[in-house]
Amino acid sequence: MRVITREQESNRRFMEHFKKTLLTVCQVILWLMFLCAINDPGMVGPRPEESIYHTYAFLLQPVYTLGGYLILPVQWLFVKAGWYHPELAAHSWFPISTATSFSAFVTPMGWGSVFKPDLFQGTLIWWVPIASVTLSVGVRVGGYMAEHGRNWLWNVMIEYIFQRKKAKLYQKALTEKNKDLERMSSQYRELAQETHSLKDSVITDELTKVFNKRFFLNRIQQEFNACKQHGSMLSLIMVDIDFFKKLNDNYGHLAGDQVLKSVAQVLKRFSPDQCYPCRYGGEEFVIIMARKTLEQTIEAARLIQENVQQLRFDDIDKKLRVTVSQGICTVDFSSPESASIKKFESLLELADQQLYRSKQEGRNRVSANYITDRHK
Ligand code: GH3
Ligand code: MG
Ligand code: MG
Repeated sequence: MRVITREQESNRRFMEHFKKTLLTVCQVILWLMFLCAINDPGMVGPRPEESIYHTYAFLLQPVYTLGGYLILPVQWLFVKAGWYHPELAAHSWFPISTATSFSAFVTPMGWGSVFKPDLFQGTLIWWVPIASVTLSVGVRVGGYMAEHGRNWLWNVMIEYIFQRKKAKLYQKALTEKNKDLERMSSQYRELAQETHSLKDSVITDELTKVFNKRFFLNRIQQEFNACKQHGSMLSLIMVDIDFFKKLNDNYGHLAGDQVLKSVAQVLKRFSPDQCYPCRYGGEEFVIIMARKTLEQTIEAARLIQENVQQLRFDDIDKKLRVTVSQGICTVDFSSPESASIKKFESLLELADQQLYRSKQEGRNRVSANYITDRHK
């Protein structure tokens, strides 16, 4: 990499400045010459002695002469460019004719008659420097503006094109990502739904939609262990539909199924929170009630009994009434009596005995067995 020293940099700046200044000076001189040429004093004859022109004539005369001769190459260029008509200058002598014709053709708007040399007679001395300065400043400012304007325009264009391109790319990437996300989320939803329904089907009884026996056996074991460990209460309510065989015989299996579903709904509805109504088999249900008081357990059984009685099956038979018998066994693991209950099967057996008792005593009732020192 080339290293530019401070000195080199300042030299370069100086040269640049110098060149620009030189260029401006040349422009001013050329402009002066051009103006001198088109305002040739020879055209207008003698001037009043007091005119400003006359005062400075000794300065302007050589410039005029030089300018007049310098018009030659300019004339040649103009002829080449087709902007000048040499036949107009053919009968005159140079430089007056050249300057006059040139003036007539190249002055602003081509008004040779208006902008003829004597128009500027006497005032030339003032407007020549003004025009020169204006021109050189104009050139500078114009050049600066042109350069910066071009850069600015270029930057704006590039930025605009780049931003548009970038925005398009972003948009495209975003759309694709969104699509991916949507696809993924729908896949996830489907998968979650499938998993959920699969999980449900594993633990739910297909007909009654309460938990199945598999779930019951798992859950009761867990709750039994937990309640035993923490010295909590654990109850089982066994529910059996009364004379269900007769109902099946009288109204058919489909009607029996409908009754089963309705009874299961009652069980679901009136089982307290964190309790699990399960279908144990046939028309027998069992509800696991862990960490519930005796009162809560009995209240649940009572509500189930009442609400099953109130079920109506008008599409089967308006007179059809269904009842259930229930057997409860509650064990309080904080009492010493619970020591006899070593496994959940014992609890189940005791609940079943209470159910049997309810059947024996006339059905549509609740029998309970409390293994606790408080409720004997
Ligand atoms: P009890 O009052 O002594 O309980 O009399 P019960 O007729 O209900 O006695 P039992 O337990 O002998 O009868 C159960 C009947 O339930 C036998 C069986 O046909 C019927 N059953 C078992 N599962 C289903 C089922 O899924 N659908 C229908 N419709 N009936 C079933
Ligand atoms: Mg029964
Ligand atoms: Mg039964």
